[in-house]
Amino acid sequence: GDHGKVALVTGANRGLGLETCRQLAELGFTVLLGVRDLAKGEAAATEIDGDAQAIALDVAAPEVAMRAAMDVERRFGRLDVLINNAAIHYDTGSRALRPDWTVIREAFETNVFGAWRVAAAFASLLGAGGHGRLVNVSSEGGSLASMGAGAPAYSTSKAALNALTRVLAAELRGSGVLVNAICPGWVATDMGGPGGRPVAQGAAGIVWAATLPDDGPTGGFFRDGKRLPW
Ligand code: NDP
Repeated sequence: GDHGKVALVTGANRGLGLETCRQLAELGFTVLLGVRDLAKGEAAATEIDGDAQAIALDVAAPEVAMRAAMDVERRFGRLDVLINNAAIHYDTGSRALRPDWTVIREAFETNVFGAWRVAAAFASLLGAGGHGRLVNVSSEGGSLASMGAGAPAYSTSKAALNALTRVLAAELRGSGVLVNAICPGWVATDMGGPGGRPVAQGAAGIVWAATLPDDGPTGGFFRDGKRLPW
């Protein structure tokens, strides 16, 4: 069972991150809500029925992930599940040939380098239990198989996150840590806007990857537990 396991979710004060925490807490996980604004995170944690605590984790800041990892090591000695969920700048309607470098750089700093630095900071703790799960919340918009015009910063950052998923899965192969990218589908959050499917449904696909059995897949890309083309 998952009771007593520790899960950390980035960007967890609202949207898919918060709902993922809620579902994991329901399964018996101790959930750590990684947030860039601790006050928002503490307020969000009180909405969760179960063991939920906020932890300062601005993924775009250079030293913060290492500090958060030291804190988790001191308190728990390991991490069972890490979910890189935080992301910004769904720049739909923008054009790659009219590049807004500020938006593009910020998107990469959070969506790619953020997930990368958090994974690096927590990798040894994830391996410590011998059964870690690393989930990168990506998007089909980052699939090279369906890459099109529109949302250039977002889609290229998610393609890079997918590439990172493959590299991390390869480096961690055989360690007991399974690494996968998932697409939550179009979900009605602040980012997705109205019209998307319910947030609970999108989060279920994240929880699926976070709770894979030990012989589950690694280095894959999934939506709702079904494979997507890279
Ligand atoms: P939201 O915009 O609703 O929430 C984003 C969350 O990320 C917020 O909690 C935000 O915190 C946090 N965040 C942003 N930057 C940082 C940072 N530097 N450090 C820590 N946290 C940060 O997005 P969704 O819930 O919709 O998206 C969650 C994930 O799902 C993202 O990876 C997104 O790309 C992906 N996705 C979403 C889809 C959709 O339709 N919604 C479709 C496909 C993929 P704050 O409140 O402080 O801003």
